[in-house]
Amino acid sequence: MAEWFRRSAEKIITYDKREIAEGTWIKCPKCRAVLFHKQLEQNNHVCTSCSHHFRMKSKHYIQLLFGDSHIEEIGGNIKPLDPLEFNASKSYKEQIKTSEEKTGLTEAVKSIKGEINELPVVVCIMDFSYIGGSMGSVVGERISRAINLARKEKRSLIIITSSGGARMQEGALSLMQMAKTSAKLAQFANEGGLYITLLTDPTTGGTTASFAMLGDIILAEPNALIGFAGARVIKQTIGEDLPEGFQRSEFLLEKGFIDHIVHRKDLKQKLSFFITFFTDKN
Ligand SMILES: [Zn+2]
Repeated sequence: MAEWFRRSAEKIITYDKREIAEGTWIKCPKCRAVLFHKQLEQNNHVCTSCSHHFRMKSKHYIQLLFGDSHIEEIGGNIKPLDPLEFNASKSYKEQIKTSEEKTGLTEAVKSIKGEINELPVVVCIMDFSYIGGSMGSVVGERISRAINLARKEKRSLIIITSSGGARMQEGALSLMQMAKTSAKLAQFANEGGLYITLLTDPTTGGTTASFAMLGDIILAEPNALIGFAGARVIKQTIGEDLPEGFQRSEFLLEKGFIDHIVHRKDLKQKLSFFITFFTDKN
């Protein structure tokens, strides 16, 4: 290559061809910037150009909140069954197997006991990559056990939601999880426990209609889709156009449904602040 054709400006980063493997580059859906995957991961899956928050897996939230400190998983041994022997385009059993292989997870939520900046907590983190973060019996049970432990050990409870709603493959058993988790949270609240939720993109259906909206403090990530029914269904039902930004964090903050929007880089510090503020007896 002729010398005059080479890039000399320091701002222009060039990568070795070997690095341009499939999946190495990601286009930001908001600002269209082309981002290097590793760079995005180092920036907590937030666009370095416009701060768009990409969906993040539960393991990355665990890393963000707990780093390399000691943690314990609660109810990790409970795995989904197929009580209805549900069959659609794919059998439920098959779907469970494929999701496990694809995500390395055994369900759509992980419950973790640990310390955030030395404050004792129990954190449940949902993962949309496992059957759309749907709320099946195991999700309900893992969350219920996390609440039980938080009650027993007087820990603050945090739930990070990301869910398409109830798990249709488990029918009524899935819907029962709404009542089960809500009842557990009521017990926790009666004893004065602090419960914080962080709603991430997307939080919808039965999850919104139960534990997601029961937090003492309801936080959300920027521009997250949060709602019960989908916008199209609502539009058809009421026969009217919906306002701009409908069902997004900023809109919901303005209408009073959520308390605060948190950028991912501030999450750990904000959680520590709220826990200290509301639990410090001095
Ligand atoms: Zn962007």
